[in-house]
Amino acid sequence: MKIQTFILGELQTNCYLVVDEDSQEAIIIDPADEANFISEQILKQNLNLKAIIATHGHFDHILAAWELTLAFNLPLSFHPQDKSIVNYMQKSARFWLKRKIIEKPPKNIKELAAKDKITFGKLELKIIHTPGHSPGSICLYSSKEKTLFTGDLLFAKGVGRTDFPYGSDKDLSASLKKLNKLPANTKIYPGHGPASTLGKSIQATKNYII
Ligand SMILES: [Zn+2]
Repeated sequence: MKIQTFILGELQTNCYLVVDEDSQEAIIIDPADEANFISEQILKQNLNLKAIIATHGHFDHILAAWELTLAFNLPLSFHPQDKSIVNYMQKSARFWLKRKIIEKPPKNIKELAAKDKITFGKLELKIIHTPGHSPGSICLYSSKEKTLFTGDLLFAKGVGRTDFPYGSDKDLSASLKKLNKLPANTKIYPGHGPASTLGKSIQATKNYII
């Protein structure tokens, strides 16, 4: 599993291009912004893109989704409980970024269910439903590679905010407990900031576990 991290957009969101090097099949996790740049990386490396996934519906994780779904004829996959947040993305982007937003929510979408699997080449990522930051937040986990993409649930040294009307401290705490069952040496790749290991970041955020 080769993981390329692109830090994109005004909110410095991590977009991950994850590649199975044997088959050159790849997925995008969080198409944060700059669709042209992301497309170029995929085409330049002759990758066969198999899926575009959002860890949750916040606009800074999906600004490039609309264009990428059209360019690669693939749906944006995300948890259905974040559907209204995805549909609201233009308005919330305009509110937070204070500029005109031409990007639209993608029309081509696929609903992910907890325990669904994303396969590309010989790699497999399991969906773990981890609400709290948003109701449809998910993590993606490879037990073979001991790798976890945590979105805005868990950062190297903190957790995502829960003060949106749909956020929940209780859910966030339960989601952290769920992740805490995975091996401590699992490498984590968050939605913002540097990578870490699950053990270290849970240790740094244990105050959030109620
Ligand atoms: Zn977020």
